[in-house]
Amino acid sequence: MRRSMKRLRHLPAVALVTFNRCAFELLGSPPPLARSKLHLRVFRVSADPGPASLAPALRHAAAILAAANIALSVDHRQVLGRYHLARVAQLESPWPTPHGALAHLVRSGRAAMPGSGLALFVVDQLPRGTHGESLGLPGPPMPDADYSGVVVQEGQAQLLGRYIAHELAHFLGLPHPVAGTAPDDNLMFNGDTLTAEQRQQLQRSPLLRG
Ligand SMILES: [Zn+2]
Repeated sequence: MRRSMKRLRHLPAVALVTFNRCAFELLGSPPPLARSKLHLRVFRVSADPGPASLAPALRHAAAILAAANIALSVDHRQVLGRYHLARVAQLESPWPTPHGALAHLVRSGRAAMPGSGLALFVVDQLPRGTHGESLGLPGPPMPDADYSGVVVQEGQAQLLGRYIAHELAHFLGLPHPVAGTAPDDNLMFNGDTLTAEQRQQLQRSPLLRG
C-alpha cells in the first residue's frame, strides 16, 4: 500500500486527470432502480372468527415500498383460526429457534399453503412493546426455511401498514440506521420514508423477482 501511494505521488498531474475522467465516464450516473416484485403469502392468524380486512394495511405497505420500486404481489391470503398461535406470549432472543412460536407459525403457514412467496403473519397479539418481528436480517431467501417469514401485530391500518413495510424491509436486509444517519421519519425508525442508500440496498435482495 505504501509503495503504490509513493508511485501515485510521482505520477504527472495530467495522468491523474485522465484517469479521473475515464473513471467518471465508466461509472457514469447510477442506473435507475429496477422494478421488482416481492411475492407474499398473507396469513391472518386470529382467534376472532371474522377479523378485519388487511387490504388497507397492505395498500399502505405497498405504497411505502413503492418508493424503492418494489411491488408487493399477494399470491395468497388466508385466515388461520389457530387460537394457540394468535397470541405470541414470548419471543426468543436474539433470534427465533426451530422450537419457538414464530418458526411454528412459519411451518403452519407452509402446511396451509405452500408456495415460494414470503410468509407474512398478522397475529392478534405479540409480547408487550413489540409490533413486529422479522425472522432474519436479512431473512433466508429459501421459501422452505423455518425462518421464511415476518410477523406483525394487528392494528389500525396505517400503523399496521408501516409495521408490515418495516418488517419486510428487515427481511430484505435493512437494519435500523445509526442515529443521525437518516431522518426521524425514516421507515426504519418510526416513519415511512427511505433514503437513497436504503432503496438501493433493498433492491439487492435475492427475494425480489422481475
Ligand atoms: Zn425494526
